[in-house]
Amino acid sequence: MPATHDVLNQPPPLAGYDVAEDQAMLSALRREGAGWAEDSIRGLGRLAGSAQVQQQGRLANENPPALRTHDRFGHRIDEVEFHPAWHELMTVAVRHGLHAAPWRDQRPGAHVARAAGFYVWGAAESGHLCPVSMTYAIVPALRNAPDLAERFEPLLAAPEYDFGLRAPDTKRGLLAGMSMTEKQGGSDVRANTTRAEPAGDSSYILTGHKWFTSAPMGDLFLVLAQAPGGLSCFLLPRVRPDGARNGMHLQRLKDKLGNRSNASAEVEYDQALAWLVGEEGRGVRTIIEMVNMTRLDCVLGAATGMRTGVTLAAHHAGHRLAFGRKLADQPLMASVLADLAIESEAATMAAFRLAGATDRAARGDEQEAAFRRLALAATKYWACKRAPGHAAEALECLGGNGYVEESGMPRLYREAPLGSIWEGSGNVAALDALRALTRQPETAEALFAELDQAAGADGRLDRAITRLRKELTDPAEARARHLAEAMALTLQGALLVRHAPPAVADAFAASRLADESGSWGHAYGTLPSGLDTATILARVTPEVLTG
Ligand SMILES: Cc1cc2nc3c(=O)[nH]c(=O)nc-3n(C[C@H](O)[C@H](O)[C@H](O)COP(=O)(O)OP(=O)(O)OC[C@H]3O[C@@H](n4cnc5c(N)ncnc54)[C@H](O)[C@@H]3O)c2cc1C
Repeated sequence: MPATHDVLNQPPPLAGYDVAEDQAMLSALRREGAGWAEDSIRGLGRLAGSAQVQQQGRLANENPPALRTHDRFGHRIDEVEFHPAWHELMTVAVRHGLHAAPWRDQRPGAHVARAAGFYVWGAAESGHLCPVSMTYAIVPALRNAPDLAERFEPLLAAPEYDFGLRAPDTKRGLLAGMSMTEKQGGSDVRANTTRAEPAGDSSYILTGHKWFTSAPMGDLFLVLAQAPGGLSCFLLPRVRPDGARNGMHLQRLKDKLGNRSNASAEVEYDQALAWLVGEEGRGVRTIIEMVNMTRLDCVLGAATGMRTGVTLAAHHAGHRLAFGRKLADQPLMASVLADLAIESEAATMAAFRLAGATDRAARGDEQEAAFRRLALAATKYWACKRAPGHAAEALECLGGNGYVEESGMPRLYREAPLGSIWEGSGNVAALDALRALTRQPETAEALFAELDQAAGADGRLDRAITRLRKELTDPAEARARHLAEAMALTLQGALLVRHAPPAVADAFAASRLADESGSWGHAYGTLPSGLDTATILARVTPEVLTG
């Protein structure tokens, strides 16, 4: 074909960049006690930004998993088949310990190092992080059954991705899932109807269904079921210790909005073998320990999604000309990008502060546990709530190209609402923050102790803290979202004032903490004028290393 035109004014592909070249993340990594992991995180960041891994992320999503309920002879097999790219992504994630390293690494900061790995590797692809996250999260809950923990924790923590249906004790590494939600109720798990009958020995037999069970190709699942003593938590292996398939039948895979590389199944349990974790009747209390760990990953997931979105947007705007000037140099586009950058940096700061609290709480620090209890619920609500709008705005920075699959933006956009649905939907997360506030006053004290460390540095923050104290005196259920937002925003502001460059902290305070209404609009890109957007943008504009 003869050339009809030259291709002009298109940015170079953003392949071969260092995802870990992220000053907000790196400084938080050091501050929260995991500076020792920097080299490894940087290695993972370069890999995540490589053309090869970007291709794997694309392929894993364009070739979603397929359910094979039966073999060609009619035997029930309940297998899920994945594209090789999925397995490659999983292999890297598990080799880097994103699924469990802190459970075998005693160094202070191990949870922060793992959070940083999860964050940078999330730029590669988000769907496969679901089993990674659940495997990380199952361990604290499993420890309520010390004999089961002793048996399986070393395999859950092993850096070996060993895919396939075999008896768990015979595998080199295990992956875990969570099976709570039923047709008649997800948030309200007390409505669960799956039954658990004592088998006569120490095990139970489970019969019933689950409406959502993600990563059903895993090895072990925490399942809620009604035992004689009430709703209880069980560990259910997909393959029984004798090598026979357990009675866990995959009915179909969900046809999901996003998260398409990952499988989420409807499951029926038919006389399935399981073991009790914790006491009968205390199932919610037991499984909530797993839910709480995954909530940290929801916040990290929102943060990494925002960072990826604003990076792609800043890269595009840094190369594309319109009306004779680079987009990034046009004042209104600079305001949009800076607004996105601030949101991203605030989410990253909060995520890493919570990862640090997780680390210290795991080592017995009660003050940090109290802080985490409230701040995580509020931040889970807010960061996940901000993610879809952020993705939509980042996408728009690319114009029509952003609406096209090849840009990667649609994948980011479809994934964005998920964090706010699972592990406590928006309302449920906000109500959980309210519950902590009213029933565990020490959590509010820990939050204000944190906020007070920033007192005096910025009058807008000081006034926001004063307003927050007043707001919290009326913890009405209908106000739960408002209060969770106020807590999360004030925490983000306090972290930025203490630890971010003045340009970033100033822009955050001028928009998100301003006391005068009208200083910040309802859409991104409505920052007040006079802010140092160039400094803010420099922090999110990637450098292409190769290709
Ligand atoms: C992709 C994907 C993967 C999933 N993977 C899993 C999995 O692996 N394991 C698993 O167990 N579940 C999984 N889920 C299910 C998920 O956890 C539930 O969908 C979620 O908990 C909400 O439950 P529900 O769908 O029954 O909605 P409902 O509980 O009916 O909630 C509907 C709406 O009502 C709101 N609401 C609920 N209670 C209140 C209240 N008291 N006051 C005000 N508003 C309220 C909620 O915030 C929500 O907006 C997955 C879901 C998705 C989308």
